[in-house]
Amino acid sequence: MRTISEPARATGVVHETEVLVVGSGPGGLAAALAAARTGVKVTLVERFGCFGGNITAVGVEGFAWYRHAATIEAGGIGREFEDRAKAMGAATPESQSLSYELDSEGFKLVADRLVEEAGIHPMLHRQFVAPVMEGGSVVGIITESKAGREAILAKRVIDATGDADVAHRAGAPTEKTPVEHMQAASVMFHLAGVDKRAFLEGVRADPQTYANWSTGEWAIETSGKEDSMFSPFLAKPFKQAIRDGMIPPTLNTIGGTWGAMHDTGELTYMNLVHLAGCDGTDPDSMTHGEIEGRRQVMLAIAALRRYTPGCAGARLRNFGMTIGIRDTRKIDAVYNLTEVDVRHEGRFDDSIGIYPEFIDGYGVLVLPTTGRYMQIPYRALLPRGVDNLLVVGRAIGGDRIAHAATRNMACCAVAGQGGGIAAALSIKHDIALPHVAISDVQNELSRQEVRFR
Ligand SMILES: Cc1cc2nc3c(=O)[nH]c(=O)nc-3n(C[C@H](O)[C@H](O)[C@H](O)COP(=O)(O)OP(=O)(O)OC[C@H]3O[C@@H](n4cnc5c(N)ncnc54)[C@H](O)[C@@H]3O)c2cc1C
Repeated sequence: MRTISEPARATGVVHETEVLVVGSGPGGLAAALAAARTGVKVTLVERFGCFGGNITAVGVEGFAWYRHAATIEAGGIGREFEDRAKAMGAATPESQSLSYELDSEGFKLVADRLVEEAGIHPMLHRQFVAPVMEGGSVVGIITESKAGREAILAKRVIDATGDADVAHRAGAPTEKTPVEHMQAASVMFHLAGVDKRAFLEGVRADPQTYANWSTGEWAIETSGKEDSMFSPFLAKPFKQAIRDGMIPPTLNTIGGTWGAMHDTGELTYMNLVHLAGCDGTDPDSMTHGEIEGRRQVMLAIAALRRYTPGCAGARLRNFGMTIGIRDTRKIDAVYNLTEVDVRHEGRFDDSIGIYPEFIDGYGVLVLPTTGRYMQIPYRALLPRGVDNLLVVGRAIGGDRIAHAATRNMACCAVAGQGGGIAAALSIKHDIALPHVAISDVQNELSRQEVRFR
């Protein structure tokens, strides 16, 4: 590749803080709130114009669709997201579980309110582009925005970008799933103009189950108990559209789940378009994915209009404002969670929260219909090779099947809350991140009503 040399330059320091959280998805938002509630100054940097990450920017509304009567969870900020959304009219009962779908638009306001109440310094519209290093320590970040390049300095930094952008650029070892094995990316969309009564009658007349997930392009391994359970799954309209020549036979990957059917005729969180081979760290690959995904969405809508009860008058309400990426880099952490941990109730002395036995990804689906759960170890947030940095959210250390559990939004919130508390306490006690006393973190977790045992 040809290169050019950029002149060296002085970059203005626009802000200094104690805990700096980069990225505001379920991981970063929870980390920022938890750190602020532990009593330190917190700044939350986000490249887009709203907080919430995939919830608000992509339109992923199924926050706890795994929850059943026997499910045991951490509580804490993850639960607060749902409760607060409910209280602010930004949540709808979910069809397959004892949970609520978050309204992706309404959650923007929920996140604003939580950030304001916690006294967090908000910095939207700034993209992290480089770490500020002192030796092997991350002591701040450089952002780019309409204001150009700016520096923000911090006592501790938390990488919640989902892609481990900060850790990667700081030189911490990360592992990216090879593109041919990455979980598919999705262009998400919401519909308007659906006849709720007719749609739900159609669902009841031909109920789908999790076993149906295996009938298309993919084979899904379940634990068996999932197979006869109801799933809001849609595949038949697209198969019919292929038979009738409306959709090319090569597009046999269209199919998936619908989210919430609203009284107002909106059918939201349409998770139907899956784009294999889209690398969320490669803008060319994402450009192709965005355009191809939108094309596939319009084919899906045409099929829904023709073959799905209640959808004859449906129209596109909106796409997610960015393509949804499931799978990129993960850090090599001091402890990398394993398939054995997530399948066999992993237990750790440095637990910062529990997560029910819910595995969804890489061809595996296990639902927490029992009381089984695992613990999340603090060490999975500690990247090797750089100091003063924690990673929370979907990029924490773990193998493929571990990631199929920890990538879920409520688990990202668990790791985020534990990481935020640890970062705050490391400042208060003037101790490096790897040496924070776990008993202190766990005492604060208890105070913040998080279950970690
Ligand atoms: C289509 C789709 C459907 C899914 N369905 C579900 C589901 O039903 N239930 C479930 O639990 N999970 C689901 N997931 C997974 C889940 O959404 C993610 O794993 C989870 O949101 C990850 O949380 P996070 O906080 O790590 O990152 P994200 O939610 O990705 O948030 C990262 C934030 O960081 C910001 N950011 C990134 N880079 C930078 C940068 N360089 N500078 C500044 N800001 C930056 C982003 O804009 C974003 O706001 C789905 C994912 C996708 C893509």
